[in-house]
Amino acid sequence: MGAFEYHEGRLSVEGVPLARIAEEVGTPVFVYSRAAFTGALADLDAAFADRRRLICYSVKTCANLSLLRLAAEGGFGADIVSGGELFKALKAGVAPGKVVFSGVGKTEREMAEALAAGIMMFNVESAAELEVLSRVAGQSGRRAPVALRVNPAVDPQTHPYIATGLQTSKFGVPHDEAPALYLRAAADPHLRVVGLDCHIGSQLTSVAPFAAAAERLRALALELRQAGINLEYLDLGGGLGICYNAEEPPTAAAYAAALRPVLDSLPELTVVLEPGRRVSGPSGVLLVKVLYNKSNGPRRFVVVDGAMNDLIRPSLYGAYHAIRPALESDRPMEVTDVVGPICESGDFLARERHLPQVAPGDILAVMDAGAYCYAMSSNYNARPRAAEVLAENGSFRVIRLRETYEDLIRGETA
Ligand SMILES: *Cc1c(COP(=O)(O)O)cnc(C)c1O
Repeated sequence: MGAFEYHEGRLSVEGVPLARIAEEVGTPVFVYSRAAFTGALADLDAAFADRRRLICYSVKTCANLSLLRLAAEGGFGADIVSGGELFKALKAGVAPGKVVFSGVGKTEREMAEALAAGIMMFNVESAAELEVLSRVAGQSGRRAPVALRVNPAVDPQTHPYIATGLQTSKFGVPHDEAPALYLRAAADPHLRVVGLDCHIGSQLTSVAPFAAAAERLRALALELRQAGINLEYLDLGGGLGICYNAEEPPTAAAYAAALRPVLDSLPELTVVLEPGRRVSGPSGVLLVKVLYNKSNGPRRFVVVDGAMNDLIRPSLYGAYHAIRPALESDRPMEVTDVVGPICESGDFLARERHLPQVAPGDILAVMDAGAYCYAMSSNYNARPRAAEVLAENGSFRVIRLRETYEDLIRGETA
């Protein structure tokens, strides 16, 4: 059962009807379930309970401090991709020694900040980056703990924008160039080789690509061992998918089982995972309010007060998010687009969707909106960003205020 279900006709989370949250906080508003968020982390952790492991929540998927704090309190780490994410993770209480820093474009400043914080490992994505990291580490008098992010060249069979382990993607170091780069890193007095990393893509719904990537990494780990390079961490990245529509993503247990042959043959390594979507995605919804019904020729539109600036995934990837009325409805079904107020035809939350007829003032929940939704939101069309709410145990609290018009001009001069 999901975190958001109907009780007595009212779509609810942690015992709180979503309609009540919409009424008290206003719309658009993101609502997260504490139990769903912490439960997803615990579920993954439990699947790997028989070995040394560290689950590093992917901060970029949803970076609210209150959620980061939940991860920190659970003893989990953080996978970051910027200095800003480092700042937020540390503010929320994530242990610096449980932070992994990924990304193809780390700046010197970000490297220096992460070194000063004492993070667990830099996932280095190119020879050029390795050189700069060595120099920055030398200047700071600290040895930088490094892993190379290797591109295992496997097809994760997902949307092209979120496939990251293809030979042609910008991410990682080509598999066959990794050994030479490792030797260089191992010989560098400013670097300390600690790990091997990959992240092949996002929203994967089968285990086979994970297993294939892990197998390639194992071969590399053994090759490095022969060369006298002993690793501490095997970082298999994130990417585990969720059900937005009819997908049947693997369970955490099935995922662990698929990786087991590789992990069992490398018992001395701590496995690091960087789940994002799997943790935050199903933990959140976006509540919007119906403003108008309209039709243009044969096409029907429900215009709501949430838009692509709040939730861009449908516009960006053609992504599907289920939409459910906050109050269960027996009104006749119709086929409609759900669109926002933004001046772009690409501004839609759903297209040609079967929904019960709605009226102005009705609240709709855009489901599975915890990952890559608020995190990708913007002020496009001078729209203040939505509020964020955390529901826990029968109550709820605002964890980010709705932006005001004043927020829109902060830092600007006229
Ligand atoms: C985005 C990202 C993740 C998280 O991916 P999900 O599909 O959300 O689990 C993990 N690691 C890296 C390096 C990433 O860029």
